[in-house]
Amino acid sequence: MKKRQLPVFQPDQNPDGTPGQAPGPGCTDDCCAPSGGNGLGVVKTPARPADGGEDGYGDAAERTVVRVEGMDCASCAATVEKRVGQLPGVYRATVNFAAGRLDAEHEVSVTVEQLEKVVRDAGYGVGRTEEAERTPFWRTPRALLTAASALLFLVGLASGLLGAPEVARVGAYAAAIVVGGLPIFRAALSALKSRHMDMNVLMSAAAIGAAGIGAWGEAALVVVLFATGNALQVFAIDRTRGAVRALMRLAPDEVLVRRDGVETTVPADEVGVGELVVVRPGERLAVDGVLVEGHTTVDEAPVTGESIPVEKSAGDSVFSGSLNGPGGIVVRATKGAKDSTLQRIARMVEEAQGSKAPAEQFVDRFSRVYTPVVVAVAVALATIPPLLGADFGTWFYRALALLIIACPCSLVISTPVTVVSGIGAASRRGILIKGGAVLEAAGRLKALLFDKTGTLTEGRPVVERVLALGGTEEEAVVLAAALERRSEHPLAHAILSAAGERKLPEVANFRTVAGRGAEGEVEGRRYLIGSPRLFAERGISLDAARSALRKVEEAGETPVILGDGRGPIAVFGLADAIRSDTHAALRTLRSAGVEELVMLTGDSEAPARRVADTLGIGYRAQLLPEQKVEAVRELVTKKGNAGMVGDGINDAPALAAASVGFAMGAAGTDVALETADVALMQDDLRKLAAAVRLSRAAERIIKQNIFVSILIKGVFVLLAPFGLVTLWLAVLADMGTSIGVTLNGLRLFRGRRV
Ligand code: ADP
Ligand code: MG
Repeated sequence: MKKRQLPVFQPDQNPDGTPGQAPGPGCTDDCCAPSGGNGLGVVKTPARPADGGEDGYGDAAERTVVRVEGMDCASCAATVEKRVGQLPGVYRATVNFAAGRLDAEHEVSVTVEQLEKVVRDAGYGVGRTEEAERTPFWRTPRALLTAASALLFLVGLASGLLGAPEVARVGAYAAAIVVGGLPIFRAALSALKSRHMDMNVLMSAAAIGAAGIGAWGEAALVVVLFATGNALQVFAIDRTRGAVRALMRLAPDEVLVRRDGVETTVPADEVGVGELVVVRPGERLAVDGVLVEGHTTVDEAPVTGESIPVEKSAGDSVFSGSLNGPGGIVVRATKGAKDSTLQRIARMVEEAQGSKAPAEQFVDRFSRVYTPVVVAVAVALATIPPLLGADFGTWFYRALALLIIACPCSLVISTPVTVVSGIGAASRRGILIKGGAVLEAAGRLKALLFDKTGTLTEGRPVVERVLALGGTEEEAVVLAAALERRSEHPLAHAILSAAGERKLPEVANFRTVAGRGAEGEVEGRRYLIGSPRLFAERGISLDAARSALRKVEEAGETPVILGDGRGPIAVFGLADAIRSDTHAALRTLRSAGVEELVMLTGDSEAPARRVADTLGIGYRAQLLPEQKVEAVRELVTKKGNAGMVGDGINDAPALAAASVGFAMGAAGTDVALETADVALMQDDLRKLAAAVRLSRAAERIIKQNIFVSILIKGVFVLLAPFGLVTLWLAVLADMGTSIGVTLNGLRLFRGRRV
C-alpha cells in the first residue's frame, strides 16, 4: 500500500516563525466548523433537491410533493411531468414512477389543488399524503379491468377454437380491447394533448391499427399483455413504494404523558418538548427523548437498522419508533412527534427515492431520440413499400410492430426502480443514501478517506502516561482537566476522565483552537493545552519537553502538551484503540473494489503511523481541518471520485468536499443527518462497507438493466422490418423486459442483507 504524507515538522521547530496565528478572535470549535454557526445544518428553503443541489431558484420558489396513484408505466410519469411542467408558475416538475411521487418547484401562487388537478386531468389519481392504508393493487379498478379484459380475450380465443360464429369471436376481442384499453386510451389522449408520445400512445396506435386491419385477436392480445405487464410491474414495486411510509407509521398515535404528576393519554402530536412521556414495556416510543427514569433495553431497528436490543438507562437518548423492551421507562421529550428522527429519516428517504440518478438523464436523452426515430421508420415502412407496389397489409403490420418496439419502457424504468429499491434497502439497514446521484457515485468509489479519531479508532482515547516537567503529576492532571472541561474533543474527554472526581479550578476566557487544542486562564494565568503544533504556532519553545515527547512518540501515543506562555508544564500520552470492526470493514471495502484507503488525521506522526500500519492503509498526519479539505479535494481530482468518512460534525467541511461524504453515527446528530450524502445511523464501520457494497450492486444493476433493454430493443428493431416480429411478440418482449428489469432492480430491496 502506497503511503503519502505531509512533510512533518518537529515539535520544537516553528514552521513559519509567526507566533500566535490562531483563528479569529473568540473562535471555538463551534463557530469554526461550517456545520455549526452558519446554519449549514439546516436546509435553507424546502427547495433543496435531493439529487444534489442544483436548486437554481430563489426563495420565491416553493416545493410541493404530490403522491400520484395509478401510474403503471414509466413513461406515464414523463407525461405527468410534462403536463405539470406546462402549468404557468411551475419551474420544475419531477415525477418518479417507481416512487409514485411528483415533486414540483413552483411560484408561491401555484396551489396544491392546481397541481392535483393537472395530475387528475392526466388520468391519474392523487394519494392523500398521510393515507392510512394503500389499496392492495389487485383491488384497484385498473387491476379489475385488466382481469376482465384477459377473460374476454380468452373467451374470444375459445370461440375461435371452437368454431363459434365470427361475430362472437370479434365481439369478445373487441370487448377485451375496450375494457382493458380504456385506461390506456385515456392516458394516451392526455399524453397527446401535451404533445408527448408515451407508451400509451404507441400501444393504442398499435391496438387500433391492428383492429383496423382486422387482426382482432392480436389487437386484443396487445392490450391484454400490456395491461397485465403493467399490473405485474406495479405489483412488484408496490411493497417497496410503501415501505418507507410503513416506517413512518410505526410510531404510535397516542402517548401517556405525565403532567403535574397525573398520567393522561394524549395524541402524540400534542406532546411538547420537555414533557414527560411514560413508556410501558413492549410499547413503541412516540417521540425522541432522553430517558429520565427506569432502565430497559430497546430495539432501535426502525432508526438504526439494528434489531439487537440496546441497553438504556437514565441520560441515554431514545428514538421515536423504537420498541421498548422489558422495563417501564419515563422519557423527557426532546422533539415533537412530527420532528422525530424517524420522521425525518422517512421523509429524507422518500425524497431521495424520488430523485433522479445521472443514468436516468442518459436514458431520457436516449429516449428523446430513439422513440421519434423508430416511429418515423414505422411510418416510412407503412407508406413507402406500398407506394412502390408492395402489399399494404404486410407492411402496415410490420410498422405496427415497430411502433410497439419504439416504446422505451424497460429503459425508462431500469434506473428509477433500482434507485428506489437500493435506497429503500439501505434505509432498512440504518443507512440513509440521499438520492440516486449519491447512490451511483458511491457505487463508483475508487478511493475512501477516513478520519482517524472516532472513525477508525474507538474515539474514546485514554491517558496512558503523564510526564510532569516541573510540578507534580497530580497538579498537571487537575490543571489540564480544568482547561479541557469545556472542550468537546475526544482527547479532552480522556483528560477529564483521568482527573476522576477531583475538584477542578475555575477557568476564565476559555476558548478552543480548532484542530490544535484549547486555552484559558486559571487564577489569572494563561494556559494552553493541545498539540505540539499549537505551541509551535505560538512561538513557545518545547525544548524542555523533548525527552518526554520522545517517550510518548516511541509508544505510538498521541501527545497532548500542557503549558503556559513560558513553556511546557507536562506532556500527556494518550492512546485510542482501533475499533474491533475496522479490520473487517476495510477488508470488505477492498474486496468491493475501493483501491485506495487513506487515513487523514490532525494527530501527530507517530500515533498516526501506528494506526495506519496496523490497518495497512495510507495516512496523512498533522492536518489542520482546512488541510483535510485540501487532501480530499486532491484525491477527488486525482481519482475522479473519492469518498470521505467522518463524524459529520467536526469533519463536515471535508465530507462536503468529497464526492460522497459518509457521516458515522448520524442518528443522534441532526447536522450530520442533514449534511452528509450518506448518513450511517449507527457508529458502526460495517455499515459503511454495507453502504458501499449496496451502491456497487445498484450501479451494476443499473448498467445491466440499461444494457439488456437496449440490446433487446436493438434486436427487435432490426428484425421487425423483415416481418420477423409479430405484434404479440413485440409486446411480450417489451413487457417481459420491463418486468425483468423491475425484478432485477427490486433484488436489492428483497435480497438478503448485503
Ligand atoms: P483528528 O480528528 O484527526 O484527531 P482534530 O483536527 O480533531 O484531528 O485534532 C487534531 C489535533 O489537535 C489532535 O490530535 C490534538 O493533538 C489537538 N487537539 C485538538 N483539540 C484538542 C483538545 N481539546 N485538547 C487537546 N488536544 C487537542
Ligand atoms: Mg476528529
